[in-house]
Amino acid sequence: MRHLLGIEGWRRDELEALLDKAQAHLPGKPDTTHILRGKVVANLFFEDSTRTRTSFHMAAKGLGASVMNWTQSGSSVSKGETLLDTARNIEATGPVAIVMRHKSSGAPHLVAKHVRCAVINAGDGTHEHPSQALLDAFTLRQRWGALDGRTVLIVGDLLHSRVARSNLLCLKALGARVVMCGPPTLIPPGLESLGAEVTHNLDAVLPQADAVMCLRLQLERQSENFLPSIREFSRLFGLNPAREERMKPEAVVMHPGPINRGVEISPAVADGPRSVILEQVSNGVAVRRAILEVCAS
Ligand code: ASP
Repeated sequence: MRHLLGIEGWRRDELEALLDKAQAHLPGKPDTTHILRGKVVANLFFEDSTRTRTSFHMAAKGLGASVMNWTQSGSSVSKGETLLDTARNIEATGPVAIVMRHKSSGAPHLVAKHVRCAVINAGDGTHEHPSQALLDAFTLRQRWGALDGRTVLIVGDLLHSRVARSNLLCLKALGARVVMCGPPTLIPPGLESLGAEVTHNLDAVLPQADAVMCLRLQLERQSENFLPSIREFSRLFGLNPAREERMKPEAVVMHPGPINRGVEISPAVADGPRSVILEQVSNGVAVRRAILEVCAS
């Protein structure tokens, strides 16, 4: 049993072994339903999700497990039940793993200290979203073989994005160069110390990128006015067809979803030939199967 609380703490060889394992879980590969047969995986989602929850659900089923889906809405959280009481009660029903999303950074780390099963972080506040970073790395490895020497440009709301942080750690660990770009008010301190190059000038760095990852403006996490206007953000940092033309011919476009169409990315780019956005989603199932195999089997 092992937790996946973040990319932090995982070595390059461990990340690579997990990504290699995910290859065996792609569609058409031999049956893997024995791996968690008779076991239960609990999805504990205190925050909304489309891709991550369904993907972990599919992944657990694909390994032969039963899935218990808990969401905050309709639960005893409305009666004042605490996070730890909720988690301990769910654990008492016998899952081998709790897959957990919470709006507070560090919530899965707290739960992991109080339960015996594996805890998998499916996104905690603005902190980490490790399974997203792993499926992004998997998608890039599928294209490139290895990430060494490649430049990945991450653009948008870096301050509130847990995807940005996990991707920075994962991509750096796997040998990529990571450039992060956004308005000064949406760049957290300390990105350079984690190995990122930081810029506010998207047009200057765009031609260098082998992949451009657009991030959603996380309006639900913004308590202050970080931007003069969304239109201004979109004009300076949105990936539109004119900017796309300035990218390397083979460069790909990524987005973790959900997309604010017309804000951080134009529909024509999101749905265009460079986009690997739906590949990311498909690969998510194989990668999450590998995560459950490594952590909970
Ligand atoms: N779905 C991702 C997350 O939960 C990205 C996003 O919401 O913008 O962090």
